[in-house]
Amino acid sequence: MGTRAKVTKLAFVALLTTLLASAAASADRVTSVMTRDAQANITPAKALTMLKKGNARFVSGDATDYDYNAQVKKTATGQFPFASVLSCLDSRISPEIVFDRGIGDLFVARVAGNFTNDDILGSFEFASKLAGSKLIVVMGHSECGAVKGACDAAQLGLLSTTLASINPAVAAVEGHKPRSSKNAAFVQAVSDMNVRLTMKTMRDRSVVLRQMIDSGEIDMVGAMYDISTGKVTFFKD
Ligand SMILES: [Zn+2]
Repeated sequence: MGTRAKVTKLAFVALLTTLLASAAASADRVTSVMTRDAQANITPAKALTMLKKGNARFVSGDATDYDYNAQVKKTATGQFPFASVLSCLDSRISPEIVFDRGIGDLFVARVAGNFTNDDILGSFEFASKLAGSKLIVVMGHSECGAVKGACDAAQLGLLSTTLASINPAVAAVEGHKPRSSKNAAFVQAVSDMNVRLTMKTMRDRSVVLRQMIDSGEIDMVGAMYDISTGKVTFFKD
């Protein structure tokens, strides 16, 4: 074999190796999305398990390699999310990322301090009753700036109004001194209480959601995201 033929052969082998590697990489990417049938087969308990497993993958650094462009194309004609998440505005807690889910998997409502109001409840009624979502997750997080602001009765424009929605949780937590953002245990206790009171408000105020929960069509759980580990801890009451 002449030098030229050798070079050509080497180039061909290199090209083939590159093509095979890129084919293997794209084969590993997840292009599938939630379908009507897949959603119909998911129970509230299964939805919770899926979120727990997704968070475990996220925490262990084994997150799914989603092909978002492919998922965009596949969800263009409809969406069938299996869970709905109410979380804080905080930039560190994107629910789709921390639960390792792709396009079309989750409904997400976010507001500083993850409290609820009629607009959020109406949105969750849509998500659950009309769009088939099986689980509602109310997720707070550690070191929440909104909760700290409420603990300190911070005042700033319309933010004061927003933080006032967390006041019931501040008032409901007893036995901490000082009662300010300087007390980490107090802040966390208020965050926990805020999730529990938000769940109670959602159930008490929305007849639609309460009936769906009572009949077992959907479930509602609380969750707390640890910003230092990425781990989500779920709780029921
Ligand atoms: Zn927050």
